[in-house]
Amino acid sequence: MRGFLADAAGPYPAMIPAKPLPAQPRRWQELWRDAITDPRELLDLVGLSDRADTLLAGADSRFALRVPRGFVARMRRGDANDPLLLQVLPSAAELGDVPGFARDAVGDLDARRERGVLHKYRGRALLIATGSCAVNCRYCFRRHFPYGEETAAANRWQDAIAALRADASIEEVLLSGGDPLSLATSKLAELTEALAAVPHIRRLRIHTRLPIVLPERVDAALLGWLGALPFARVVVVHANHPNELDASVAGACARLAQTGATLLNQSVLLRGINDDAGTLAELSERLFDCGVLPYYLHQLDRVAGTAHFEVDDARARALADALRARLPGYLVPRLVREVAGAASKTPL
Ligand SMILES: *Cc1c(COP(=O)(O)O)cnc(C)c1O
Ligand code: SF4
Repeated sequence: MRGFLADAAGPYPAMIPAKPLPAQPRRWQELWRDAITDPRELLDLVGLSDRADTLLAGADSRFALRVPRGFVARMRRGDANDPLLLQVLPSAAELGDVPGFARDAVGDLDARRERGVLHKYRGRALLIATGSCAVNCRYCFRRHFPYGEETAAANRWQDAIAALRADASIEEVLLSGGDPLSLATSKLAELTEALAAVPHIRRLRIHTRLPIVLPERVDAALLGWLGALPFARVVVVHANHPNELDASVAGACARLAQTGATLLNQSVLLRGINDDAGTLAELSERLFDCGVLPYYLHQLDRVAGTAHFEVDDARARALADALRARLPGYLVPRLVREVAGAASKTPL
């Protein structure tokens, strides 16, 4: 076992929070509301206020900044190229049309079955549970979808449940979004109570970045709900860089694992953030220390405003080869791309 989680003398002493724990831990909803939304405040917190005018010149204000303070605390001070900062800071690079980068990059509009229900792959249906996230990631397709009422939670999930019930080929329900754990646990329980009465549903999968960006979300109520579900459960978290995984995240993952859920991670390959073999290898190793196995490494969806994050396919393959050469097979994520109309994620 690597030392960074348990041992302050390990290779990453800066990752261990030195602050004493407050007597009464703050509720996740309060921490959510307390997120940073002002780019200048963010730059101030990371010691870059003197460069704010340059860094923010011409930045896109249509997809707002949003990042929880705990995630900001993991950014390096005074480093405008910090890999966590670059994932959330609006920049002028997002403006301007780049050919091939579109608003609906992965054919979601064609896969819609019911309000908030996407059915692309055999046996698996995806519910857009909510459009909300605790963080706004600059590379995300969400920048173009305000969602509104296009979520499966509308109408107390009834239309979504009816669509799932009507198709006996569906064995696995994926909760996605947005971030499904943005919903109150009682709202999630409302869904799973109804799903439990659908005999062909065997697995529930939750795609969430909250255990990474706001690990306090993994509270007793969530664990109680998850642990009691009558399905096999999979939680797919989303971390892109090893610096995202501090002791608070490790704790959240350990609590999730205790419910019996299988923990996986998906990452997006992002230029200037995680596009080198050393970073990706370290990410896999730290995930494993947290009890999480790497699942997918996604080539970027070609979403308008994200072209500056793209890594070309030849380099992506070279990185995957380098990972295979230095890690055990179970720590090598599958390098895939989402191709509209394909029968699965497409390996590169
Ligand atoms: C990615 C995705 C899935 C899950 O695919 P897996 O390969 O099983 O992880 C399911 N449904 C939709 C609509 C998806 O986009
Ligand atoms: S958490 Fe996921 S869905 Fe939400 S903005 Fe980030 S990448 Fe997009």
